Amino acid sequence: MSSFGIDDLPVRDELRCKSPYGAPQLDVPVRLNTNENPYALPEPLVERIAERVREAARNLNRYPDRDAVELRTELAKYLTDTGKYAVGLENVWAANGSNEVIQQLLQTFGGPGRTAIGFEPSYSMHGLIARGTGTGWISGPRGDDFTVDLAAAERAIAEHRPDIVFITTPNNPTGNAVPPETVIALYEAAQAAKPSMVVVDEAYIEFSHGDSLLPLLEGRPYLVVSRTMSKAFGAAGLRLGYLAAHPAVVDAVQLVRLPYHLSAVTQATALAALEHTDTLLGYVEQLKAERDRLVAELRAIGYEVTESDANFVQFGRFADAHHVWQKILDRGVLVRDNGVPGWLRVSAGTPEENDAFLDAVRELKKEQN
Ligand code: PMP
Repeated sequence: MSSFGIDDLPVRDELRCKSPYGAPQLDVPVRLNTNENPYALPEPLVERIAERVREAARNLNRYPDRDAVELRTELAKYLTDTGKYAVGLENVWAANGSNEVIQQLLQTFGGPGRTAIGFEPSYSMHGLIARGTGTGWISGPRGDDFTVDLAAAERAIAEHRPDIVFITTPNNPTGNAVPPETVIALYEAAQAAKPSMVVVDEAYIEFSHGDSLLPLLEGRPYLVVSRTMSKAFGAAGLRLGYLAAHPAVVDAVQLVRLPYHLSAVTQATALAALEHTDTLLGYVEQLKAERDRLVAELRAIGYEVTESDANFVQFGRFADAHHVWQKILDRGVLVRDNGVPGWLRVSAGTPEENDAFLDAVRELKKEQN
């Protein structure tokens, strides 16, 4: 029995020899590897969540609101207040994390015989979820400085005529943002090739020096902006992602969503968190300052750092990034090796966590010299 493994099962061909998403969850003193918000939710919010969940619990014998109307209305308000563009309930859809939003978009607009493109290195789950939905994945190019090389990207879109174009801004794992002009040009290139969906993944937008690309939705019915409460709202454990788009897109994703996909507990918890938006966004300001400090100090120590608009920083260059990752881990600090040759990524933590990380890499630099 023990020799029986995954290869003995009739798994779909496109899943053979693939690895599941696997950021290590190690029990070490300082965990700066999954771009989480290091601050626990404030106690008044914890209380409010408990209250709202208690109310929801009284009705758990019933299915939840299938269309999550109250939650989508509040998310629309949040986007309108912060995004410099007015959206309503009809423009917003929510699911269990933006990963599920992305999966629903791929199920709706991708699938067997269709393709999606992303400009890599970028968020690896775009490609993995594409494969999981039977969508062909095309790895589009980035420049050596990790910016999207517009001419090369336009060529790739014209050549492959993908059904879905993913643009991650700020990009994970590199941290840099994609300028709005580039997104507009890629949208036009995608529509010239054939009507295809352009998904702007703004998981980290609240940490950016720049604005959300929500205003680009005006007059662009094939554009989707996807967001999450996992990062800025400090609620990765909640599993709540959402999108803003033309109402037709919201109608379309309902064709694939599972009935009652968002539990009443999730909806209640997210609504409580949205009541505390101002407090939670206060932490974002602290994290942005810490991110800028990490960039400055890493450069002062002598590392190369990619410009960051996110809550993490990509630093290098290393002949053997994995070896350095292990040495940092040996000092009790977990960072991320995303497999980008020569580079590692560190999430902005609390000032104390960042100090521990900076001490570790300072020591390493001394050892090397
Ligand atoms: N998009 C990007 C670019 C991400 O980095 C992540 C999480 N690491 C996600 C989407 C998914 O986030 P979640 O499912 O927690 O909303």
